[in-house]
Amino acid sequence: MKHLLSTTDLSRGDAILILDTAEEMAAVGEREVKKLPALRGRTVVNLFFEDSTRTRISFEAAAKRLSADVINFAAKGSSVSKGESLKDTAQTLEAMSADAVVIRHWASGAPARLASSDWIDAAVINAGDGTHEHPTQALLDAFTLRRHWAALAGTSPGGSDLRGMSVAIVGDVLHSRVARSNLWLLKTLGADVTLVAPPTLLPVGVDSWPCRVNYNLDEVLQSGPDAVMMLRLQGERMNAAFFPSTREYSRRWGFDDARLATLDAAGGRSTVIMHPGPMNRGLEISSAAADSPRSTILAQVRNGVSVRMAVLYLLLSGDSSGEPGRIPTPILQENPA
Ligand code: ASP
Repeated sequence: MKHLLSTTDLSRGDAILILDTAEEMAAVGEREVKKLPALRGRTVVNLFFEDSTRTRISFEAAAKRLSADVINFAAKGSSVSKGESLKDTAQTLEAMSADAVVIRHWASGAPARLASSDWIDAAVINAGDGTHEHPTQALLDAFTLRRHWAALAGTSPGGSDLRGMSVAIVGDVLHSRVARSNLWLLKTLGADVTLVAPPTLLPVGVDSWPCRVNYNLDEVLQSGPDAVMMLRLQGERMNAAFFPSTREYSRRWGFDDARLATLDAAGGRSTVIMHPGPMNRGLEISSAAADSPRSTILAQVRNGVSVRMAVLYLLLSGDSSGEPGRIPTPILQENPA
């Protein structure tokens, strides 16, 4: 595979290879010297047409830990705001010999357009396009879930998938690229997915998606899911009123203190609470829930670096046949603890 555009492109084997490689990268992250020379001399461009905190920093840290040169290119303040097209921007990056372009764009399909063009030869990684997909977020979520699942079973996560795990994805599914990427990847890894949202925040055609739909969060929580993934209400993408009031939304679909207390009172349940960030605290998730021992929110951020290292490594170290490379043991040993 040359690009990472969508989780629908990933077979089970591809996904497991990325997650296993990310485990190896995580081990590097625990050393005193966190750097590998694997991508020395390669150039990774972070091309961001939409705001980002975690994703951009995470890709930057990942590329730097692999010793790549990193160029951060934000559309605001660049010639893009003067109307330069994606094609002109891409050709400029090509002239600078970029090996990988990590692109975030407000238009769904922009990364695929770039990847299928002859404007640039670099590997294209989708870091979020409109309401379409955010594959590395789904991969880091799967990595986090796999560690949780393996810890419950008392095994190590390597080589395993998420078969038997139940995951509820809750909130603004309509505008969420995180929900879409997660749904496809979770299915590929064998998890059982339930979407929970007001009917107005579910996309047309959701009936044909490989998941269950439920409008009642309490009912889903009672069923004891292994993970509850809360989604941000994407105000910036809303052009109409999708629910009566934020108070009402929070009461019916927010993970609030009362729901946390109910879950805790159920005893024994190991349900984890996830959120991709940025959070609207007090709206889709309460502070008590976000900061509770069940929350994996900071672990997700931490795991994001390992997963993005794995993706960059596998895409950029492929041989000429396009087959991804394994991390050569000598490279890992070049940088002993
Ligand atoms: N950070 C994630 C994204 O870029 C989630 C969000 O913004 O709500 O899609």
